Amino acid sequence: MNTKDFIALEEQYGAHNYHPLDVVIEKAEGVWVYDVDGKRYLDCLSAYSAVNQGHVHPKILEALIEQAGKVTLTSRAFRNDQLPLLYKELSEMTGYGMSLPMNSGAEAVETALKLARKWAYRVKGVPRHQAEIIVAEGNFHGRTISIVTFSSEPLYRDDFGPFTPGFVTVPYGDADAIAKAVTPNTAAVLLEPIQGEGGVIIPTAGYLKKVAEICRKNNVLFMADEIQTGLARTGKLFACQHESVRPDVTIVGKALSGGFYPVSAVLADKFLLGLFTPGEHGSTFGGNPLGAAVARAALRVIREEKLAERARELGEYFMEQLAEIPSPHVKEVRGKGLLIGVELKPEAGGARRFCEAMQAKGILAKETHDHVIRFAPPLVIDKETIDWALPSIRDVLNMA
Ligand SMILES: *Cc1c(COP(=O)(O)O)cnc(C)c1O
Repeated sequence: MNTKDFIALEEQYGAHNYHPLDVVIEKAEGVWVYDVDGKRYLDCLSAYSAVNQGHVHPKILEALIEQAGKVTLTSRAFRNDQLPLLYKELSEMTGYGMSLPMNSGAEAVETALKLARKWAYRVKGVPRHQAEIIVAEGNFHGRTISIVTFSSEPLYRDDFGPFTPGFVTVPYGDADAIAKAVTPNTAAVLLEPIQGEGGVIIPTAGYLKKVAEICRKNNVLFMADEIQTGLARTGKLFACQHESVRPDVTIVGKALSGGFYPVSAVLADKFLLGLFTPGEHGSTFGGNPLGAAVARAALRVIREEKLAERARELGEYFMEQLAEIPSPHVKEVRGKGLLIGVELKPEAGGARRFCEAMQAKGILAKETHDHVIRFAPPLVIDKETIDWALPSIRDVLNMA
């Protein structure tokens, strides 16, 4: 079977809820992926930052294999010997007193929304079923019906109502808008510190700090969705730390497993996560020993290989080099750490064709929001590899 055959099968038998580049990957290592024809590509997407540690990291692979041979799933009806250690290590690494493990990012976001509502009713004293949660325009928090309720992307939302009440949308980057939207019934503000899917949108410095202050003053929880920005991607463990902000709730996923297995978690202190009582929330696979062992190894790699520092240093270099490329198409290069967006001018004809041209040159990137090319390679990338990629990127950004 060749590339064409695999694509034909996929198109015939699979739902068409994605529009992938026509590259069929059969193996990967570090920053490189290989297609079924043996062609090598530099991965500049990292599965939306799920493989910050690099593809098939040997230490995470070892943990996976070892745990898979022992016990993979107990359900939370019984305890296992990996989850307590994951809890402890997550707490020591992030400074939050507790965590709640789930699988996908969307599930962790749903968990945080439930937590905020419960806190509003049981602690803040909001009248039952009146809680409001403030979110930002241009957000991406996942794909469940409650989450797409407050998406501002019509494609994600329009055919999927009726929706979940209790969400208020304000412009992203505008702290005053949040202050104005707060009511006595506001339970929480939910934000991405940088909007990745929204086009690598970086709010002006001081925004997160102001939002955190508004929340504190009004007895409102500040919840950060760090599923894409967290775990070293932007040059710190969490993107909120660039402004020395510690949200009441931080949501992680993606790189929490280094791409091996879906593992997500809600991080918070005991005054919040201690509110859940048995039966109120759960997941058959959430907190399973295989996922917990993989997550422990994935976190260890982030620490041992100092991935946050790498992301900061190499991100600075990569962004500088990208910004120096003379191109008739580029409107702006922006980013933090190794989460970089190259925004094209509206007349450039969309980012997709540039991504396809890079694919032909052995670089895989994915457009986000039509006009932005996202460069987010695994954080184990080195300067040499960036230097290898730059001439090809330069050529592509200068094509007709
Ligand atoms: C990917 C992502 C999610 C959803 O995670 P899934 O694992 O796809 O459900 C939520 N929030 C942000 C910021 C993300 O990047």
